[in-house]
Amino acid sequence: MDYEVVVVGAGPAGCLAAKYAAKNGAKTLIIEEHASIGSPVQCAGLLSTNAIRECEIAPDSKFHPIDGAFVYAPDGRRICISGGEVKAYVVDRRYIDRTLALNAIRSGADILMRTRAVDMKIHKHRRILYVTIEGEPDTIEADVVIGADGVQSRVARSAGIGRPETVLSGAQIETIYDFDDARFVEIFPGSCAPGFFAWAIPYQGSARIGLAVRSGHAWDHLQRLLSRHRVVSQKRGAGITDLVIGAIPIGVPRRTASDGVLITGDAAGQVKPTSGGGIYPGAVCAKIAGTVAAHAVMDGDTSAERLSEYDKRWRAVIGRELVIGKKINEWMAHLDDYRINRLIEVLDDDELLDMITRYGDMDHPSVVLRRLLMNRKSMGAFLKMVLAR
Ligand SMILES: Cc1cc2nc3c(=O)[nH]c(=O)nc-3n(C[C@H](O)[C@H](O)[C@H](O)COP(=O)(O)OP(=O)(O)OC[C@H]3O[C@@H](n4cnc5c(N)ncnc54)[C@H](O)[C@@H]3O)c2cc1C
Repeated sequence: MDYEVVVVGAGPAGCLAAKYAAKNGAKTLIIEEHASIGSPVQCAGLLSTNAIRECEIAPDSKFHPIDGAFVYAPDGRRICISGGEVKAYVVDRRYIDRTLALNAIRSGADILMRTRAVDMKIHKHRRILYVTIEGEPDTIEADVVIGADGVQSRVARSAGIGRPETVLSGAQIETIYDFDDARFVEIFPGSCAPGFFAWAIPYQGSARIGLAVRSGHAWDHLQRLLSRHRVVSQKRGAGITDLVIGAIPIGVPRRTASDGVLITGDAAGQVKPTSGGGIYPGAVCAKIAGTVAAHAVMDGDTSAERLSEYDKRWRAVIGRELVIGKKINEWMAHLDDYRINRLIEVLDDDELLDMITRYGDMDHPSVVLRRLLMNRKSMGAFLKMVLAR
């Protein structure tokens, strides 16, 4: 088999990269190791309105609208961040992934299921992908390979491209939960989820309750959250209808392009470090990857230098936000419960909550951070909080 662009992985990033490679004139193939698109699901399905737009999918009546969030301090105090309008949707990831795959096919990409990339080599300026198709060894030649093969990216490893700096471990169940308002997600920072946070996300009468942690086993922490957390243990119902275990990369590698290879999505650590959300940044970057790959093929130059245009372009659009998000994530990861209680206490102020509501943006946290840092009241309170005890 011979293609101009081969995309490894039919997740959201892979399907969007393939759509844009095909749309820009490249003969494109997606390979996916699983037998069906979108499963197993490793996602809470919370997508900002920006993310839905970037995925080029129209909101569906089955999407569950979200207007805001309740953030609970470890001591039980909670603040409400609400925009009074739909900020995000909770979706069925299988539906999203399958729609994106169909859109890629409609744009001209081919797709091969049960096809796993196992290795990759360069031969006469072309990439040779060693694959198994339904278990049988085979090869596929390509001018450019786009690795959209998730956090454990084999393509990134084969191409000698760096890996995400940190990988969080995540776990989530689906169950019944007594939401005060089913248009609000609930967020629980603190020692219940060391280094990150826990969440309860409403979806059509049930809840996705999960967490991610920097160290230790997410599943152990989740069991403790469900049985002992002062809020979650009281609001959850009995029974579990679904279980998700997965990894969340934090921190992008120094380069995401090499000779004949680009990496995108989770494979490139293109995930918001403040929330673990990967669909929005992955979509933004994957579309650039597909476009640059196709143009490079048309120009007959798929060298690392030519493909580094991808690296420059995605960093110009979203790189700064990911760097600032990582700094926020690292700062939050070092706060103990006492300081998180003080932080929520500081933020529980009409003026500051109004500012967060007005400028808060799930995908661009730097906007509200800048406002808070410029505000004398919040800066004074933050300093007091940091110096406390
Ligand atoms: C518990 C949890 C909750 C999350 N919740 C959210 C959320 O609410 N909102 C959000 O935006 N993000 C969320 N995320 C992150 C989000 O799921 C990922 O960022 C997103 O799926 C990344 O998309 P991707 O296309 O880069 O990779 P993936 O979705 O991982 O897709 C990679 C694809 O590549 C295939 N593949 C892998 N290796 C090979 C190979 N060698 N050969 C062929 N195919 C291969 C895989 O089968 C898979 O289909 C969550 C993550 C976790 C773990």
